[in-house]
Amino acid sequence: MRILLVEDDALIGSGIVTYLKHYGYAVDWLKDGSAALRALQMDEFDVVILDLGLPKKDGLEVLREARKSNGKDKKVTTPVLVLTARDTVDDRITGLDSGADDYLTKPFDLEELHARIRALQRRFVNRAEPTIKFGELELNPAAHTITVGGNLVNLPRREFALLQKLLENIGQVVSREVLSQTLYGWEEDVDSNTLEVHIHNLRKKIGLNLIRTVRGVGYIVDKF
Ligand code: CA
Repeated sequence: MRILLVEDDALIGSGIVTYLKHYGYAVDWLKDGSAALRALQMDEFDVVILDLGLPKKDGLEVLREARKSNGKDKKVTTPVLVLTARDTVDDRITGLDSGADDYLTKPFDLEELHARIRALQRRFVNRAEPTIKFGELELNPAAHTITVGGNLVNLPRREFALLQKLLENIGQVVSREVLSQTLYGWEEDVDSNTLEVHIHNLRKKIGLNLIRTVRGVGYIVDKF
């Protein structure tokens, strides 16, 4: 899953990045509002974590501008979790009315942040169940486990993230670009064969036929 973090506080930001990367998320971290708005309009993320007090452009402004379509830039529909130090009802209402999907008041627990990210992602892909089931396969994002026919399969975090992305888009081709960004975000120097290697390893562990290559485009998990 690819996350955009917008936070100008170095300590909080690096804490979140380290924590989420540990769980296999690709995290891109920006520190001001203008850069965040540009990134949102140009790139695809699964979830945005947005601080409100930001240099250059306030978080609420970023949210309002991202959520309206002005004909020139696309309307951003990515789920947004707002981080704020302001814990008044008014601020929360303003935030939600401006297009935030959820709220977390500083200081917060990283595990709670993680749980809220999972819930947002679930809602966004229209999945009411906390686990993804497909045939013999069951993926549990919270426990970070995968079972095939009831047997636990150990997957490294990147293979796990890759499989989750494909299973959230069953019946649709996920492009190579989107998959690489799911794994690495804007990280540079990612070998162009890395994705093939992950897919190859994944197929060995969960069965050769689940993931189909769409030549020149990407990969797909076909509907039954
Ligand atoms: Ca701030």
